[in-house]
Amino acid sequence: MRARDLLHTRPEGLYCPPGDFFIDPVRPVERALITHGHADHARPGNAKVLATRETLDIMAIRYGDGFAGSAQVARLGEPMQIGAARVTFHPAGHVLGSAQIAVEMDGMRIVASGDYKRRTDPTCAAFEPIACDVFITEATFGLPVFRHPESAEEIARLLESVRQFPERAHLVGAYALGKAQRVIRLLRDAGYGETIYIHGALARLCDYYVSQGIDLGPLAPATIETGAKDQFAGAIVVGTPSAFADRWARRFPDPVACFASGWMRIRQRAKQRGVELPLILSDHSDWDELTATITETGASEVWVTHGREEALVRWCGLNGIAAQPLHLIGYEDEGD
Ligand SMILES: [Zn+2]
Ligand SMILES: [Zn+2]
Repeated sequence: MRARDLLHTRPEGLYCPPGDFFIDPVRPVERALITHGHADHARPGNAKVLATRETLDIMAIRYGDGFAGSAQVARLGEPMQIGAARVTFHPAGHVLGSAQIAVEMDGMRIVASGDYKRRTDPTCAAFEPIACDVFITEATFGLPVFRHPESAEEIARLLESVRQFPERAHLVGAYALGKAQRVIRLLRDAGYGETIYIHGALARLCDYYVSQGIDLGPLAPATIETGAKDQFAGAIVVGTPSAFADRWARRFPDPVACFASGWMRIRQRAKQRGVELPLILSDHSDWDELTATITETGASEVWVTHGREEALVRWCGLNGIAAQPLHLIGYEDEGD
């Protein structure tokens, strides 16, 4: 069978006719298979949703229990029959519960990887390369200029700054789902045992990670009582990127603005955002990881969903792999 008879794009998202389902639809559909809980992939309002237990829990936390008409748990590595298609979820190494979705029929296997990374992440299951005919990849950091340093090095720079400026509060901007918990866990792995203060917007997701066995150590709300500014001298405070744009951030003592993102590789972006200590910590693959992963899957064809599509498509061509951009609308590449 031809690959596009098994999976192709529609305005709602990637569609599988033999199974009559969509993967990460951007509009409500009858049956949705969801790779992970980030808002651009997991949207409320679908009639039926199939996703990992963790992704379903995260959707309920973000959207409430009525996020879908009905929900079904997909267990990693366990094939399920949906119509004439066979579907298997595999870990994607992106955030807690994130999965790649393999779709098979008549000897043809397509893997939709969602967002993924290859770095060690103590807060989620590691990515597994799945052999396939067609590999569907994102390309958020799909340019050779994007090479992410070791996570431990970035965390060491943060801790060094905390030692150097014991009177200042270090405010770390990190996306609420995945990045914030990873930063906290990496700090613990580096031996940081102090209380870490978190913005209210992170509380429920941090609680959820802890309930799933990811030890985040001592956490406390980053609430400033009037006149108690010194309370946060020398402390690490983690909040969503948007929290740092508002007045909340200005109440800390002489704050060091830090931001944990793959985009911090670009100095100009750090400057624009007023980031004093950029931390290059990404939950997406860098250029080397994207290309190595494509090679590992053995795919003879690659489809690129979103991001820096042209460079990756060109790399595939130079390496004898047929490739095309899918130009999917509705996925953001800023969410890192
Ligand atoms: Zn994501
Ligand atoms: Zn995404």
